[in-house]
Amino acid sequence: MKSNHTGVAHDPQTLPRPAGRPFLAAGVLLALLTVVLIATNVWLASRTYDAAWSQTTKTSRNLGHSVANQLDSVFSEVDRLLNTLSYMLERRELTAANLEPLQPIMVTHLSQAEYLHGLFVYGDEGQWLVHTQPAQALQANNSDREYFIAHRESRSTRVLISKPVQSRSTGEWIIPVSKRIDDADGRFAGVLLATVRVGYILKLLNGFDIGEKGAISLGLANGTIVLRRPYAMEDLGRLIANNPLMPAVNSARAGIIRITSPIDGIKRLVAYEHLPNNPLFVTVALSEAEILSEWRGAVQVQFACMLLVVSIIGVSAWYVFRSMKLRQASDRALRIAHEQIVQANAQLADLAEHDGLTGILNRRAFDHRFEQILGQSRRYGSPVSVLLFDVDHFKAYNDHYGHPAGDECLRRVAAALSKAVRRPGDVLARYGGEEFVAILPDTAAAGALEVANAAKEEVERLVLLHSASVEGIVTVSIGVASANGAAVDWTTGALIDQADKALYRAKHEGRNRVVVAGA
Ligand code: GH3
Ligand code: MG
Ligand code: MG
Repeated sequence: MKSNHTGVAHDPQTLPRPAGRPFLAAGVLLALLTVVLIATNVWLASRTYDAAWSQTTKTSRNLGHSVANQLDSVFSEVDRLLNTLSYMLERRELTAANLEPLQPIMVTHLSQAEYLHGLFVYGDEGQWLVHTQPAQALQANNSDREYFIAHRESRSTRVLISKPVQSRSTGEWIIPVSKRIDDADGRFAGVLLATVRVGYILKLLNGFDIGEKGAISLGLANGTIVLRRPYAMEDLGRLIANNPLMPAVNSARAGIIRITSPIDGIKRLVAYEHLPNNPLFVTVALSEAEILSEWRGAVQVQFACMLLVVSIIGVSAWYVFRSMKLRQASDRALRIAHEQIVQANAQLADLAEHDGLTGILNRRAFDHRFEQILGQSRRYGSPVSVLLFDVDHFKAYNDHYGHPAGDECLRRVAAALSKAVRRPGDVLARYGGEEFVAILPDTAAAGALEVANAAKEEVERLVLLHSASVEGIVTVSIGVASANGAAVDWTTGALIDQADKALYRAKHEGRNRVVVAGA
């Protein structure tokens, strides 16, 4: 059967096969797409992460550098001032009276520098000789101050910056910057002190934007905190044991390190830098959480979008796969139904052509075949013979043995006849009741007679008992008619008629015999 254009009927071979491969290919493609999407997003996130870090690293370094330079200029000015004053002091004998003329000069210097809290000169026993404070405590003595002891013990005349202390004269927190004064013989003669306001430095540090959780600190070379923002009084002069920052600070002039603050436990990116001209270092520390918060926000949005896209892909894939599966299932059902119809049609065609009792061709099929065979024989000029069989005294058989036995007898007779009518082109059919018919293409009268006799003998050989017949067994009478190839005017009706006449004669002549028409 060929598939037609309306698509009502399909050849099973042209129907869609189960689509395993397209499923696999589509699945692999979607999986690849998803992997690429995720990989791209992860890559982008890592790029922006790196960018955030490198940007912050740069910012921290710049801030550190800027803070270091600003503070350096403050302490360098103090340094210069101390050197100037010490030059004035060195050639004089250090007594209060001697130094009296210096006081207005010191006050002038003080008034010119906002960061300065006071200027002091102490004698070799710590007694106050001259200073810029409006009032002096009675019996004031600074010989117990760390810087005083340090200068007395060390011959170095370099400027010393010490950890913050609370001023004895004003109670204000100050950073002492001091210098040893020697007498003409090089002996310890006293100490020159400038005090720098912690408040001023803090104000300066507050001018830098370091976020809410950032920190800036100023430290002495040994790690002691001079000052820190966010400001806490207890941090002033604090020395933290095993400060993780110090190994790095001691190993380079400037650098960057990631540490967890030993003060507040916040993870920070710390840029440190030593002041160029003073024994101090600054740290500018930005909170990692703050550095990454913007990046985190962006990545969250990015991944949410990615998740949405992946979900859309997933749902679409599921939908497409499901439709494909449904389509396959319906195709399969259609194919099966189609095959069943084809089978049923074949069975129907078989049933329509065959006789229900004997299984051989029926009258309708015979008529059709006979027309075809006769047509062929006319076209090619070949002979054709027709044999008409009739069971003898069958009515009596039925009457005697009963109808079911009669049916069985007909089945056996049909089987016997088909043994004789056995050439491939031969056709054997039930003509009606107890009558059978055979067409023998390419067979002339002589051959047909042979087949007829053989058929007669086959029936006899069955030895089906028939008490009402002369022979005592079931027999058949056969009428034979042949059309020779040269004659073109034979019709099926005419041939059957001839055969029927011959059969009639066979009956008359005593049954169980063959009569050939025209013989
Ligand atoms: P004759 O020798 O002259 O042919 O005598 P006969 O009895 O065979 O002739 P008749 O044509 O009178 O009888 C045919 C009988 O065949 C009549 C009918 O009961 C019987 N018959 C026809 N078809 C069937 C069938 O399918 N099954 C059975 N059991 N009997 C059938
Ligand atoms: Mg009959
Ligand atoms: Mg009969």
